[in-house]
Amino acid sequence: MAYDSNNVFAKILRGEIPCKKVHEDEYTLAFHDIAPQAPVHVLVIPKGAYTSMDDFTAQASDAEIAGLFRAVTKVAEMVGVKDDGWRLLSNIGANGGQEVPHLHVHIFGGRRLGRMVP
Ligand code: 5GP
Repeated sequence: MAYDSNNVFAKILRGEIPCKKVHEDEYTLAFHDIAPQAPVHVLVIPKGAYTSMDDFTAQASDAEIAGLFRAVTKVAEMVGVKDDGWRLLSNIGANGGQEVPHLHVHIFGGRRLGRMVP
């Protein structure tokens, strides 16, 4: 799928719409989800123009890939869920329920989460 630079997370990255930022580094931006599904619900996105995990793993550099996953753990610690347990989720494509076509991973935590049901 070609990357659509008008997607909402691309606009957040360009500073065209605001977000509640948690963390930013060379490779990633993390911010609170606008409609949280748990007491802690943070999104972590790569700064590069990747639609989903498919093109990220195919095209991103090793540094970008490592940077995303290192940022995820750092953000989990920053928002206070690391010690109690938390969930990492990425919806990919139509069947995965992905709404925003810029790769993002969700961090959920802050309460005992329900079991995952496909
Ligand atoms: P998806 O279903 O694509 O995995 O998740 C997209 C997520 O982005 C949803 O949880 C939704 O609440 C969140 N979201 C959509 N638009 C915005 C926005 O403008 N700002 C923020 N912070 N989150 C958004």
